Amino acid sequence: MKLVFATGNKGKLREAREILGPSFEVICPADLGITDDVPETAMTLKENSILKAEALYGRCRIDCFADDTGLEVDALGGAPGVHAARYAADIARRDGLPVPPDHDFSANIDALLRELEKHPGEPRTARFRSVVTLILDGQEHFFEGTLEGSIAFARSGSGGFGYDPVFIADEYPGVSVAELPEDVKNAISHRGKALRLMARWLQEME
Ligand code: IMP
Repeated sequence: MKLVFATGNKGKLREAREILGPSFEVICPADLGITDDVPETAMTLKENSILKAEALYGRCRIDCFADDTGLEVDALGGAPGVHAARYAADIARRDGLPVPPDHDFSANIDALLRELEKHPGEPRTARFRSVVTLILDGQEHFFEGTLEGSIAFARSGSGGFGYDPVFIADEYPGVSVAELPEDVKNAISHRGKALRLMARWLQEME
């Protein structure tokens, strides 16, 4: 089955192909010549994933899916949450400093570690939450997954992407997600859980 994944993030695309396996042909918008970025302006993960999926479906009319992922850090009252991709920019604006671009992984991690320094002694528990919107024959379907863990004090590892170098999954204490082989990350991750639910649902539909 052919599906377009509404992402320009190569890490997400690689993970989705590995998670969904050979029964799915997963292509990305760039493969169809679509390169415009959809602004993630909604207030919830679900609405943002709908925005991305609908924008793509409107362009290509091919069955497609989008995910939106947030990082909830308990000591920060659930921040960065849905703003995870632009956390450093939000903090810089708040503090009147030069604003880095959205999706600057390194600046986002720096901002997160600096904000957590203001909460010494508090638990560093956190979770990733993903919401996937699938558009199949024009109808929308939703799938969710979470990964519980905590935020490390410093980066480690070179795998994965985004906040992985500072996220320690409960299942693998002592190493960051960026130190886990990709198949191990996919077996426990928020995106892995949501996409396997989607795959199972699609296979039951056949
Ligand atoms: P979005 O779903 O692309 O909007 O992701 C929001 C933010 O979370 C971005 O900064 C991503 O890099 C980050 N992110 C999304 N998925 C993951 C993941 O699996 N590991 C680490 N960071 C992630």
